[in-house]
Amino acid sequence: MAKRQEQETANPEVTEVAPNVLRMQLPIRMPGLGHVNMYALLDDHGAAVVDPGLPGPFNWKAIENRLRQAELKPKDIHTVIVTHSHPDHFGGAARFVKEHGAKVIAHRSFRFGIAESVSNNTPEVSLEDLEAQRDLDDGEEAEARDENDTGATPGSPHDHDHGHNTNSGTNTPQMGWWGGPSPWGGQSARPPLRRRLQWGIMRALGGAMSVPEVSHPVEQGDVLYLAGREMFVLHTPGHTPDHFCLHDPEAGIFLAGDHVLPSITPHISGISTSEDPLLSFFYSLDRVGEISGINKALPAHGHPFDDLTKRTEEIKRHHFERLDRIREISREFGRPASVEEFSKHLFKQRSWGSMAESETYAHLEHLRHAREAESHRDKKGVLLYLTS
Ligand SMILES: [Zn+2]
Ligand SMILES: [Zn+2]
Repeated sequence: MAKRQEQETANPEVTEVAPNVLRMQLPIRMPGLGHVNMYALLDDHGAAVVDPGLPGPFNWKAIENRLRQAELKPKDIHTVIVTHSHPDHFGGAARFVKEHGAKVIAHRSFRFGIAESVSNNTPEVSLEDLEAQRDLDDGEEAEARDENDTGATPGSPHDHDHGHNTNSGTNTPQMGWWGGPSPWGGQSARPPLRRRLQWGIMRALGGAMSVPEVSHPVEQGDVLYLAGREMFVLHTPGHTPDHFCLHDPEAGIFLAGDHVLPSITPHISGISTSEDPLLSFFYSLDRVGEISGINKALPAHGHPFDDLTKRTEEIKRHHFERLDRIREISREFGRPASVEEFSKHLFKQRSWGSMAESETYAHLEHLRHAREAESHRDKKGVLLYLTS
């Protein structure tokens, strides 16, 4: 089995994926991801770009390289569109603003969490997909050992760009909730010392300053004039509360961001400004699935794909299965159990931690809001859930 397409390393080749729309892959090395797609929307005044990658000079070099292929310079970029508040999507934006005065379009609720502010370890991919990928990698390594193959290094022979950080693409990020009690109670997780030092260094280098100032906030139903035609803003909370997509009815394309990815399920965190982030995600998936006339979806990671509606259904099914599994686990317990206990039955030991608990919490809270589970806090303040 091959790598998932979202994990492929960035191919520097620029491709036209729709009239006046270019796909430019930028290198990232994040758990489960090998590139982010920046889309350039060309018009008479230059271009707008969507999701210009991670902060830092390594990414900027790749941006310059891709733009050059399209005979564009950074100063030709009049607008930067950021689909949501994750660093692999907004990283390059601040530099376009600072050096070339570009405007920044993001949803009006755009807000970047402090804990994640200087890390490119923001959970992007569901833990289940990360586990599947790790199992696959382990299998491949074992196979390589069996064959006595000394060349069992990760990465394909087509690696063009190399990530600039040392995070293995298959590490489970222990991210999400640091430095305080979690909303579900119990022990507060602290990041490992090495990670804390890394954050400190990045902060000192101005990593936290790379969050762009949004000059043009947008909301559901707004119309933008891009690539020489009208595009519609769809607010799609779920993966983050501030996520939005762009619908281009004239060309039949849909800029999907991380809302709908071709082969992986985006991470849905239980730590959110939304009371039931999973329900928000389902609504947003339905809203997108109902759009007719889309012949190409353009995701932020992976290749353009055709059947957007089908993919929204697959992603929903993934979560329905997860909810079924939680009901089953609750029956097995036969008593109220904590988020940590549920997460330890849902995920393998090496994945235990704040990300596993955060995803589990999102699903348990969804069941509670649907009145399919009850919760209360024990004497220590730990939330306990029992499904009906
Ligand atoms: Zn994201
Ligand atoms: Zn992403």
